[in-house]
Amino acid sequence: MTTHEQTKRLLASDPFDFSEASRNLFLQSFKENALHHYKNHEFTRKLWDKLGFHPDQLKSEADLENVPGTMVHLYKEHEFCSVPKENLALVLTSSGTGGQKSQQFLDQESLDNVKALALTIHRSLGMASEQKYNYLCFTYDPAVANDLGTAFTDELLTNFTGKNEVYYAIQWNEEKKDFELNEAGVLETLKRFEASDIPTRILGFPALLFEIIERNNLTLNLGERSWLQTGGGWKSKADKEIPKKDFRRMIKERLGIPEEHQRDLFGMVEHGIPYVDCSKGNLHIPNYARVFTRSPYDLSLLKKGERGLLHFMCSYNFSYPAPSLLTTDYGRVGSCGCGIKGDTLILEGRAGVSKHKGCALKALELLKV
Ligand SMILES: [Zn+2]
Repeated sequence: MTTHEQTKRLLASDPFDFSEASRNLFLQSFKENALHHYKNHEFTRKLWDKLGFHPDQLKSEADLENVPGTMVHLYKEHEFCSVPKENLALVLTSSGTGGQKSQQFLDQESLDNVKALALTIHRSLGMASEQKYNYLCFTYDPAVANDLGTAFTDELLTNFTGKNEVYYAIQWNEEKKDFELNEAGVLETLKRFEASDIPTRILGFPALLFEIIERNNLTLNLGERSWLQTGGGWKSKADKEIPKKDFRRMIKERLGIPEEHQRDLFGMVEHGIPYVDCSKGNLHIPNYARVFTRSPYDLSLLKKGERGLLHFMCSYNFSYPAPSLLTTDYGRVGSCGCGIKGDTLILEGRAGVSKHKGCALKALELLKV
């Protein structure tokens, strides 16, 4: 297995240290990663050649702004991979709202990298612990669905603390030959966890939890030491979405989980960096990534705080050529007063491709390499 030294150094560093030396670690790691994909992935090389970009041009932090973004939908339509398929250790798949599948390919080094960085980020945000927890996961049992992104994420997240019982709420129904939510099982499990001396951690989609609480008029006290970790957004339940601060207050009232123990996570299968809430409920951007916002009209770089299309950069994955990913999601880069250094990511919804197709999006769709 090859080891990429610059990336190893970056991932061994504090994810929320943004000193010049640490920022330079990201730059060097990104350059190492970009060179690898330039050499090994023909599409990326041709795209960058056409746009006049070469990884050797990365000499300072400011040069990162010049790396062209590759549109996220290209990864949904093509199987992009920078290593021979036989070198892959894991293929992650997640189904999106539009029915299109997102995939990510991980060789052993990249898989080890993403596991390590997820742990470091969660630990730095005070979420890892030796304490044993009872887990209620609103996802597929990874023993049955081991390539689904959310199941992988949950299995990964339960490993950041000691574990007592783990209950997976979405179970295989042999009669229907499909997965389904075992709601009766969830209610029984929550009551059992409430009575236990061991604190609870709930992992899952906010919409599912919200619906179960409402439908069953649930009021429990899981205790001050319990946590809720949400992810995946509201997806098809977007019409029911309630503001984060209202959701946090409701969970405190109905489940007894303190607001500072309620943490949301934003991640994209194609990007893989977890953006995780601090105790104040803001998603923090680690030094393992860069986030830019771009104008939907001409893709020009916007200033910090301005709303635009999110452009994500990362360097840990040597098998999947998405170091510079241009998404169709709107957002802003903000800041937080919690004491954790660096910027925050503010999500502002999806640019429905059919609804708000900017000229640049249209142009990129037409761009043939
Ligand atoms: Zn914060």
